[in-house]
Amino acid sequence: MGRQHEMAIPFDNTYAQLPEVFFSKGKPATVPKPEWVRVNVELASELGIDPEWLSSEAGLGILSGNEFADGSEPLSQAYAGHQFGGWVPQLGDGRAILLGEVVDGSGIRRDIQLKGSGRTPYSRGGDGKSPLGPVLREYIVSEAMAALGVPTTRALAAVSTGEPVYREEALPGGVFTRVASSHLRVGTFQYFYARNDRESLQALADYAIARHDPSAAKSDEPILSFLEGVVERQARLIAHWMSLGFIHGVMNTDNMTVSGETIDFGPCAFQDGFHPERVFSSIDRQGRYAWINQPAAGQWNLARLAESLLPLLPGEEKENVSAVEQALTGFGNQFRQAYFSRFRAKLGIRESGEKSEDFVEKTLGMLGEEETDFTIFFRELTRSADGSCASPESLFSDGEMFTRWKEEWNEVGGETGPDVSVMKRSNPVRIPRNHRVEQAIDSAQGGDLQPFHDLVDALVHPYDEDASLTKYEESPNAAERVTKTFCGT
Ligand code: AMP
Ligand code: MG
Repeated sequence: MGRQHEMAIPFDNTYAQLPEVFFSKGKPATVPKPEWVRVNVELASELGIDPEWLSSEAGLGILSGNEFADGSEPLSQAYAGHQFGGWVPQLGDGRAILLGEVVDGSGIRRDIQLKGSGRTPYSRGGDGKSPLGPVLREYIVSEAMAALGVPTTRALAAVSTGEPVYREEALPGGVFTRVASSHLRVGTFQYFYARNDRESLQALADYAIARHDPSAAKSDEPILSFLEGVVERQARLIAHWMSLGFIHGVMNTDNMTVSGETIDFGPCAFQDGFHPERVFSSIDRQGRYAWINQPAAGQWNLARLAESLLPLLPGEEKENVSAVEQALTGFGNQFRQAYFSRFRAKLGIRESGEKSEDFVEKTLGMLGEEETDFTIFFRELTRSADGSCASPESLFSDGEMFTRWKEEWNEVGGETGPDVSVMKRSNPVRIPRNHRVEQAIDSAQGGDLQPFHDLVDALVHPYDEDASLTKYEESPNAAERVTKTFCGT
């Protein structure tokens, strides 16, 4: 293992102080020839890390796993989970190592974790490594999500290792540095629940409440307040994803945070041509995590969290069950509220109510009918409301259908007309389109990182019009279209 380094990342660790059953201590593996792919200097500053230092050889040493950072207490976290509905009692960080935590400029504790940094006790048959492709995908999509305003884990850095990773073929290896407001998952709670380890479950709940719901600690029933908090955050998150045409792709309970941040950018995708039942993930054969099924999948996962918390509730079993059921029922209303409010904003509709909700459904029905490009439709509509271009009639082969829709839109919008400034803030010009992500990864594997950097840069201000970036607005042509995405791990 490498040399000690002076404390250049201001670590302030709490997870490592939890009982030993929560994790396994162990350092990242070293790599032969680390090179920077990209450092997120803005995020480094936010975290109180000197970006110049981080971008240096010293920073590279630490974020590649070759050097040991002073103050770091490297560990891999234990968790369990339901994967596509099937119970797996032991998952855990099989290819991720938590270096430690820092407290950011706004006082929020953030995890700094390496992904792809070698085997851990939770690796099972895996090598603990990551090809560069998934590293770049997570960098692009997680930073785009953040720029779009969606709660998400972040990308602090991407490094190439100079070491091949063997999948179906030899691929260049990479290490990703992930920043998260925590890595606590529904599956972390399931891990202790399934082991009947009430004491650890209580310690985990106390820890999660202190970190994510400090106000719940003061409520009459902290566990229930915490559950309500998670339910609300997930309802809002999933509605936000859907309003951008996003499909997570692997909403397993181990990939759902209690913080309400998006985590795990495997076979995820933003839809081009919209269809509510769209699936991209190559492993999601039943469409369990299709665009339209995401709220149901979220609620199912939250039910697994609720049952894991039951042993911590003080009442009689019957009472407890009805209390958590009530919290879970809240999900439906909160989701609907967030979902319709986001779609109303996209359509510039000022008034809530059943009429506007029906119209949102009708709009999505129209888009699904011809699989119209989701992002382009809403942005063109925004431009037409702004008077900067004609209405997006040309996106539809059935012009009459669109005309009828537009008449209704004008009617629902009322006399004041659409709220253009809200539309501009709700309808991005640029999203990380699948074909651009694939092209960036392909070029990088061929040694050219420029398309990756250009794509990341193009997505920093996704709601701003920029005539120099129109190629990132365009939908793919037939040859470019991506219809499947892979975990690629
Ligand atoms: P994910 O698909 O990222 O949700 O991962 C599911 C589980 O598989 C987690 O426990 C991961 O740590 C583990 N895993 C995924 N890829 C690897 C790998 N290359 N080596 C070891 N474990 C892995
Ligand atoms: Mg995962």
